[in-house]
Amino acid sequence: MAYKFVDNYREQGGRKKLVALLKDRGITDEKVLKAIGKVPRHFFFDETFWNQAYKDIAFPIGDGQTISQPYTVAYQTELLHIQKGDKVLEIGTGSGYQTCILMEVGAKVYTIERQPNIYNHTLKVLPGMGYKANFFLGDGSKGIEEYAPYDKIIVTAGAPFVPEILLKQLKIGGILVIPVGDEKTQKMITVIRVNENDFDRIELDTFRFVPLVGDQAW
Ligand code: SAM
Repeated sequence: MAYKFVDNYREQGGRKKLVALLKDRGITDEKVLKAIGKVPRHFFFDETFWNQAYKDIAFPIGDGQTISQPYTVAYQTELLHIQKGDKVLEIGTGSGYQTCILMEVGAKVYTIERQPNIYNHTLKVLPGMGYKANFFLGDGSKGIEEYAPYDKIIVTAGAPFVPEILLKQLKIGGILVIPVGDEKTQKMITVIRVNENDFDRIELDTFRFVPLVGDQAW
């Protein structure tokens, strides 16, 4: 499907406008804005829907799941304050768009998806685009103990609570970003690991995510 990797002026222009829109909406981190301006979001869409790719909307990707809204991707990435080489665990790979943005801002990404169809699809698409993450299939609500600790953890599905087990997989000084709430809306929560036993928790804006389903989830 070589056609999928065509990046025309129309799509490049769409990205420029999207970056301007995200600036207007309050995204200030230049690294994040540059990443949004670089990653071809239309590659995650069927060609029929390329005209939707640079709108600031979530979009269905099959199996009842969505590619996240660009504003949400930028917002969560900004909160992670990624430094070059940070080891980042992403829970909810989905289309892999967020994964690419994380890599563009310098992260080394470990990403886990629970739905086999989505996992198998993204596993092929991302390397084809030149993005080499570490892909896992399974329940990310328990993290991935084997590769812990992480500098940063991002959860891209709505959780009923902050799983303790994820906090334990953070380095000291590490940051967890996770939407927490009910089925309808969630508050974005940032948790910073201050030392072995202490965590600072900050509650931010309201979002709407698909549910995090698993052992430490719904
Ligand atoms: N950030 C992604 C993107 O840019 O396309 C969108 C992620 S989508 C909103 C949430 C994803 O989390 C879905 O693909 C869903 O299957 C996955 N998910 C839900 N619960 C999970 C769990 N316990 N472990 C791993 N993935 C999970």
